[in-house]
Amino acid sequence: MGINYSVGGINISTVSLDFEEASNLIIQRARQLVNKLIEDRGHNKPPFLPEEFVRLQGIKKIVKSDLGDVGAILLRFHDGCVIKVNRNHHPVRQNFSCAHEIGHALFSELELGHYIRSIECRTFNPQARDKAREKAKERLCDAAAIELLMPEAVFKKYLTGFGVSINSVEWLANIFKVSIQAAAIRIAEVSEEPCIALFWQPWPKNKFKGLRLAWRVGPGRKSRGKDKYMPLHTYVRPPSTLHKAYQDSSFVKSSRLFKCDNAVKRLPMESKGFGRGETRYVVSLAFLNR
Ligand SMILES: [Zn+2]
Repeated sequence: MGINYSVGGINISTVSLDFEEASNLIIQRARQLVNKLIEDRGHNKPPFLPEEFVRLQGIKKIVKSDLGDVGAILLRFHDGCVIKVNRNHHPVRQNFSCAHEIGHALFSELELGHYIRSIECRTFNPQARDKAREKAKERLCDAAAIELLMPEAVFKKYLTGFGVSINSVEWLANIFKVSIQAAAIRIAEVSEEPCIALFWQPWPKNKFKGLRLAWRVGPGRKSRGKDKYMPLHTYVRPPSTLHKAYQDSSFVKSSRLFKCDNAVKRLPMESKGFGRGETRYVVSLAFLNR
């Protein structure tokens, strides 16, 4: 595959263009692996597991091991690669970690380092630049992992069947063997109906009072500009519908103010609490056109 890249692009537009190009390339390559897998096994039913992809990418095996805080590592030997994955992590996290390492193998194969090397920072601090490049590389491997585990076309088909709702997040996570967060992000990315996925965590952790927005993912690339929507308040004190979602097992409907540029708009939202004890959190979907 021919690779065109610009050298020493210092301005930000060059950087983001390079990143978009690299991201398209790695996703395309992940899609080729998915198509090969579907062809080999004769059906496109999820889940799509890393164990099925490693052989296609020439990776010898996946070994479960104690890795401390590390999710997985890709070890390169003269006769091929091996993925070591943290056996103490939840199975869905292991799936994502392995798929991310396959992403690293694709990154090397496509020589995407060229794109990353063109990333410069406004500062001349070499450490900040290296960090920015490292972060970009990890994001590319995540993008590949998401495409491998939740291939866009198949995921969209299931999402259309279930309809876009907070309950679908749980169903899709179970079917595709991914985390609730990963399924919520994928819904926001590929849904035909524009929606935003939001992840709320108790804050402060030791003396839980409110729920704080940890991250949000806006609608996919097609709906330009709409990904700017941010909740007006990113810290919510009790009592609130979000706290009800945090405490109960059923999902909660509400609405919330979002700002986009200088405008403020009220959007309908569905929220549900997941996880237990200290790691419990709330995921919401906010709908832009309802
Ligand atoms: Zn990585």
